[in-house]
Amino acid sequence: MGRDTGPTCRLCRREGAKLFLKGARCYTKKCSFERRPTPPGMHAVRRRKVGDYGLQLREKQKMRRVYRIGEAQFRRLFEEAERGTDVTGEHLLRLLELRFDNVVYRLGFAASRDQARQFITHGHFAINGAAVNIPSYGLKPGDVISVRDGRAELTPFKEAGEALKAANIPEWLRADAVKVQGHIVAAPRRDQMPGDFNEQLVVEYYSR
Ligand code: SF4
Repeated sequence: MGRDTGPTCRLCRREGAKLFLKGARCYTKKCSFERRPTPPGMHAVRRRKVGDYGLQLREKQKMRRVYRIGEAQFRRLFEEAERGTDVTGEHLLRLLELRFDNVVYRLGFAASRDQARQFITHGHFAINGAAVNIPSYGLKPGDVISVRDGRAELTPFKEAGEALKAANIPEWLRADAVKVQGHIVAAPRRDQMPGDFNEQLVVEYYSR
């Protein structure tokens, strides 16, 4: 199963929660989930009892969809998290947060992770001064993310520079609105990562 490329808002309705996949639109009345929060499909309103497996599956899908990655890549990240010495679920979340596309999004250089992915693959960003066009690239503390030479004047990044001044950037990141660059101060702790995931359910899903 690859990355979800179908209608984006349908994913929010499927997971029964706003996943904030479409940037500014998610905060307006145009949000489809606000207008129709029922699951997609013909039998959308039928209530079904959800067992343990169902809960684990839904949590795994929600996490994977929020970070916009495919099943194979998600599983590889889980296996990497499992090999580490940290608590597996927390380690998995940390690996997801430290992905290049997520950091570009968190720094406010892109309105959504999809847009961040597009900017990266178009070669607009550098890590520690070297161009990198791989959205899944794993960052580490000390890395500096910048818009490449001459591109800071492109409209989205000029706007990002302005938006940065008011942006709510996580504590583990620092952003420079003038240079339109950011760096990773430290790997995120659990309390600095999204609280709306139950990562233990994801661990249980893959440990069946
Ligand atoms: Fe989800 Fe609403 Fe954003 Fe669509 S607009 S992706 S339904 S939060």
